[in-house]
Amino acid sequence: MKNNRRKFFKTIGLATATSIIGGLYPRQVSASKKVKWKMVTSWPKNFPGLGAGAETLANYINQLSGGSLTVKVFGAGELVPPLGVFDYVSSGGAQMGHSGAYYWKGKTEAAQFFSSVPFGMTAQEMNSWLYYGGGLKLWEEVYKYFDLIPRPAGNTGVQMGGWFNKEINSTDDLNGLKMRIPGLGGEVLARAGGTPFTLAGSEIFTSLQTGVIDATEWVGPYNDRAFGLHKAAQYYYYPGWHEPGPTLECIINRQAYNKLSKQLQKIIDIACKAANIDMLSDYMAKNYQALEYFEKEKVSMRQFPREVLVKLNKISDEVLLDLSYENKISKKVYDSYTNFLKRVRPWTLISEDGYLSSLK
Ligand code: CA
Repeated sequence: MKNNRRKFFKTIGLATATSIIGGLYPRQVSASKKVKWKMVTSWPKNFPGLGAGAETLANYINQLSGGSLTVKVFGAGELVPPLGVFDYVSSGGAQMGHSGAYYWKGKTEAAQFFSSVPFGMTAQEMNSWLYYGGGLKLWEEVYKYFDLIPRPAGNTGVQMGGWFNKEINSTDDLNGLKMRIPGLGGEVLARAGGTPFTLAGSEIFTSLQTGVIDATEWVGPYNDRAFGLHKAAQYYYYPGWHEPGPTLECIINRQAYNKLSKQLQKIIDIACKAANIDMLSDYMAKNYQALEYFEKEKVSMRQFPREVLVKLNKISDEVLLDLSYENKISKKVYDSYTNFLKRVRPWTLISEDGYLSSLK
């Protein structure tokens, strides 16, 4: 046996043998090659779901790279404020960020399509568009100008419509409705006669309790329970028409990324993909538990009337069309997004929705 092995090495040559063994057993990375990165986020450190997702991503990178690339996570406000993430990573202050693309509409309107738009795609459809429908390529094109590379890195799944102290029985009830609902959803509400508010998470509970607002959206049962929103509102409405499957993003500074080996770049890509599915699974598992809790607490669950959703959907189409007129790239992203949705939706209705509605 020993002789055979010696013969084998002699025959194929030592260099080749070493490379074969090297392929089987990954080489340990030398201390001098260790790279240390910072990740800034828009979430409080370890915030359930979103903040945890950033930690998961960093852990995946640290573990997969065997320590050759370590990423340290900073919560919102530690290095930069929650909405300072984009600029900070763009300028190279940190090499990486974890946030939501719709926060950057002031930089580029088109960014909003890469998180969620009202009456847009579900999480499954979003992933399909991004990975296999040209969405991610477009996202890279949009962020290139800012020296950033985007990667999908989480999804909350369809959110809840929100907490209301006013019943919504018809479109008339939207008139004068004071609701905390940021972004495009807020724009849709405004055009429907309501008054949208943009409040930070920390301000929501008191504003709802004191009647400054009549309603608020936040995320879903898991995050909403942590804020105690059921103690400040009478009705819990669904579905979250304004955020049907928001993608969270990992943004990477282009120069920092280009300095990495191809292997580390691939590790980041795969870690983001893993973090993307991990967050969605985490939300699914935690949301149903929080929902069970709300049922026990006798929270009044309501579905938006169809009439209301039809009207909001019509206004949303107009809002998105207006967005496409902003500039060339917005039009390009709008076309890709809406065409993909138009083609993928019939299959969603036959498959996921067809299956579930056949059980009703
Ligand atoms: Ca939300």
